[in-house]
Amino acid sequence: MSAANVVFLMYHEIELPGRSLCRVEPGYVRYVVKESEFRSQMHLLLQAGWSGFSVTHAFSASRSPGLVITFDDGCETDLLAAAPILQDAGFSATFYITLGFLGRSGYLTPAQVRELSDAGFDMGCHSLTHPYLTDLDKKGLEREIAEAKDRLEHIIGRGVHHFSCPGGRWNERAVEVARKAGYLTLATSRPHTNSPVSNAFSLGRVAVVRGTTLPAFERLCHGEGLWRLALQDVLRDRVKTILGNSAYDRVRATLLHAKRPR
Ligand SMILES: [Zn+2]
Repeated sequence: MSAANVVFLMYHEIELPGRSLCRVEPGYVRYVVKESEFRSQMHLLLQAGWSGFSVTHAFSASRSPGLVITFDDGCETDLLAAAPILQDAGFSATFYITLGFLGRSGYLTPAQVRELSDAGFDMGCHSLTHPYLTDLDKKGLEREIAEAKDRLEHIIGRGVHHFSCPGGRWNERAVEVARKAGYLTLATSRPHTNSPVSNAFSLGRVAVVRGTTLPAFERLCHGEGLWRLALQDVLRDRVKTILGNSAYDRVRATLLHAKRPR
């Protein structure tokens, strides 16, 4: 992988020992990384001389090798588990917040979002109510993308420039609304690396899932084997298109239930 190609990692909730998760269904838990796993992963990066950046500083060429660390949804463990480990490593990150989830059990409160922002982390928006953007009309897109941005800016007292798509679904209409609202980037869940000349409104990200071994994590960070994940992504998209989003979710839940996570 050339130095110009940067891997963007995508995390969600972090599991703390003895603490219940925001949600319990297998499709959710698959994306919940244990605190011990996350700590080992950041330690590995540090040992290897890598830096962890926010989306804003994604392409700080002077400090390569590096990768971008992102979190979706705005779980309380962003502040309780991820932030201290990142700070110990001297890494930054972007936390994408779902505004409508703030204050719910297991999620950040507005004050905690402000705390993360004041600590120097990059705050991005992950919509208002976490819908599939592809299911929305223009009004819905404006509410979820533009209004959510205004609300987050009001909470942190700073500009919000980055958006990540709930469930990884997006289309050109969503991009249009995001551009108009003043965002500078839009992140997807497509597993590809990004470079300074990539389309900033379809940034790829690589999900770190529960139980990823350290060697597998290291390969992800080097952008190795992403073609395989990308192929799975294409196939998944075909199935989604054929079934529709809600039927796809039902089928996926059934399949994942048969294979319970650790
Ligand atoms: Zn999400």
